[in-house]
Amino acid sequence: MKTSLKLFAVRGVDIRLHVTFPLILLYAALQFGLVGGMAGALFGVVAVSLLFVLVTLHELGHTFAAQHYGIEVRQIVLSPLGGVAQLSEMPDKPAQELVIAAAGPAVNFAAAAVMSAVALATSGSLPGLDGFQPWQTGFGLSSLFGYLFTTNLLLAFFNLLPAFPMDGGRILRALLALRLDYVRATNLAAGVGRAAAVALGLYGLWTGGLFLMLIAYFIFTSAGAESRYVRYRRAVQGYTVQHVYSAAAHRLEPGTTLRGATDLMLLGGQTSFPVVVDEALVGFLPHADLVRDLRARPPYTPVGELMRRDVEPVLPSEELFAVEQRMAMERLDALPVVAGGRYEGLITLNQINTLRRLVRGASPAAAPRAHSTSTVG
Ligand SMILES: [Zn+2]
Repeated sequence: MKTSLKLFAVRGVDIRLHVTFPLILLYAALQFGLVGGMAGALFGVVAVSLLFVLVTLHELGHTFAAQHYGIEVRQIVLSPLGGVAQLSEMPDKPAQELVIAAAGPAVNFAAAAVMSAVALATSGSLPGLDGFQPWQTGFGLSSLFGYLFTTNLLLAFFNLLPAFPMDGGRILRALLALRLDYVRATNLAAGVGRAAAVALGLYGLWTGGLFLMLIAYFIFTSAGAESRYVRYRRAVQGYTVQHVYSAAAHRLEPGTTLRGATDLMLLGGQTSFPVVVDEALVGFLPHADLVRDLRARPPYTPVGELMRRDVEPVLPSEELFAVEQRMAMERLDALPVVAGGRYEGLITLNQINTLRRLVRGASPAAAPRAHSTSTVG
C-alpha cells in the first residue's frame, strides 16, 4: 500500500505527502476556526500550508547539500510532524555531514533574511516575533506574514537543538567527529541529546506542555537508536561481499519448476535463488516472490516465467553495509554475486548477521533502517 502521494519532483527527488498530512490542515482549521470562525479556519489552512512550503525548502537544503557530495536522496516526505529527506546513506566524512545537516536550518535563516528585507521595504520596520496570535491582529496578510516569520525562525532553532535526530545533534556529532573516533563522537552527542531531552521533558512537565513531553520522549529514544545504528554499521566496516558470500548456494535454471524451487527451499533452508545459464546470471527469484507464486501459480510453472530480471547483482568488492542497506531498501533477503560477467554465488542477510555476531560477539540490533535526516516542524 502506498502511504504517500507524489506532489512533484525537484532535481530527481520526489516531494511526497504522507496520507496523514490532511490531519495537520484539519487541526489548523479547527485551532484558528475556534477563535476566528470561517475566516480563521481559512487563515489556518493557508498559514500551515505555507509553513510546509518552508519545511520543504528546509529539506531541499539538506537534499542539495547531499547531492553535492554525490549522495542519492530518495524522496522527501511531508507528514504532520514535519518533513524528512531520505538519504540513501550518510557521508563518512564529518565535514560533509556537518554541511548537509547545517544546510536545512541555513535555508530557514535565509528565508528569515528575505522576509525581513521585504518587511523593511514595505513597512519600514523589521517583523516582530509575536506572530502566534493572529486573532489579535486580524486574519489579514500582515498577520499571515508575522505568523510565517515567527514559525520559520522557530523551525530553525528547534532543529538546531543538539539532539538526534535533529539537525543540531548531527552538527554536534560531526564537530566532535572531526577530532574524535566516530562511535565515540556519536555516543557523546547521544549523551548531550538525552540531557537536552530530559531538560525539555521537565520543562514540559512544569508548564503542562503535553506535546513538549512527547517530543522529549521521542528525542530521548532517538539518541539510543543513533548510537546502536553507528555501532551496527561499525561492526561490519571493512568487510566486503567476498568475505561472506556462498559460492555453493543452490542455483536454478530457467526450466526448473516452481515445485522444484520450493523443494529446494524446504530441504536446504535457502530462501532466494539465482537463475543461472552457462555460468551467467539470467534472473533472480527472491523469497517473497517464491512464496507469492506458490499460492498463485501452478507448481509446474518454469522459474524462467517467474524470475525477476531487474535485480542488480553485487560485486565481490562491495562493502557489506552498503549491500545490507540495498537489501533493506529493496526488501530482499539475498542478492546474487557476479564478477566479470560470471555468476559467482549468493550473499544473504543471514550471512551478514552471522558475521556481525562473530566479530561483535553480540546479537544484532534491529535491522538497519534507511538513514535519514529529519525535521520536526
Ligand atoms: Zn533538517
